[in-house]
Amino acid sequence: MVGGTLGVEAALSLAHLVIFGRPGSGKSSLAERLGADFGYRLIRTGELLREAVRRQDSLGRQVESQLKAGQLVPDDLIGTLLETNLVAGNQERLIFDGFPRTLGQVAILERIEERCQLSIDAYVDIHLSLELAARRMTGRRVCPKCAATYHLINRPPRVAERCDHDGIMLISRTDDSAEVVAIRQQIYEQHSGPLLAHYRQTMGAKFQEIDGSGTFAEVYQSLCRHLGLVG
Ligand code: ADP
Repeated sequence: MVGGTLGVEAALSLAHLVIFGRPGSGKSSLAERLGADFGYRLIRTGELLREAVRRQDSLGRQVESQLKAGQLVPDDLIGTLLETNLVAGNQERLIFDGFPRTLGQVAILERIEERCQLSIDAYVDIHLSLELAARRMTGRRVCPKCAATYHLINRPPRVAERCDHDGIMLISRTDDSAEVVAIRQQIYEQHSGPLLAHYRQTMGAKFQEIDGSGTFAEVYQSLCRHLGLVG
């Protein structure tokens, strides 16, 4: 852990979070669990994009090849995607998972904060080495219906290969092939340095870095502790 612990007062009013982490860092599973335990709504750009592809709407058709290749979707499309999914005056507590991902998206988040009258209370980076992340990504499974994430060894479903929530047969994401994973990791390396440096420099104690190398339970506990959330 590099960042400090948020003060108790900050934690009590903790409404909106951003969670960063490389592919395989566990950020989406951690966000899901925070959502279930503390009533956050997850804003997951990756999942919103995959849904658009499944629907084959105009956005879905535009981004399909980029998703398959592990390339980033252009910032303006991410802005439009979020605009259609976030309405002003919404009272829900939000976790942004997978956004912002580039320095260009920092301004998009600022516009969202202004337009929806919300303010991000904590930015958390789940830190993990490339080697560990790559090892974890083999064995990753997702539910094609509700997008819950599992791992065959680290986080198995209760019934083999079936989603705990809806019993649907789990699948591997098409962009989880070794080749595409290597591209996604490389793109993460390119963008995360300047992005995290920006938040580290501008957000002070609101920026937290968590060691993501333990078991899921250990990392989740550490995350909750640093956010001042008690399950
Ligand atoms: P991961 O973090 O493991 O790459 P995600 O589900 O967050 O998984 O993202 C999957 C894909 O969706 C990315 O490889 C990229 O193509 C696209 N994507 C998701 N979020 C963004 C974003 N904020 N900006 C650009 N592209 C994105």
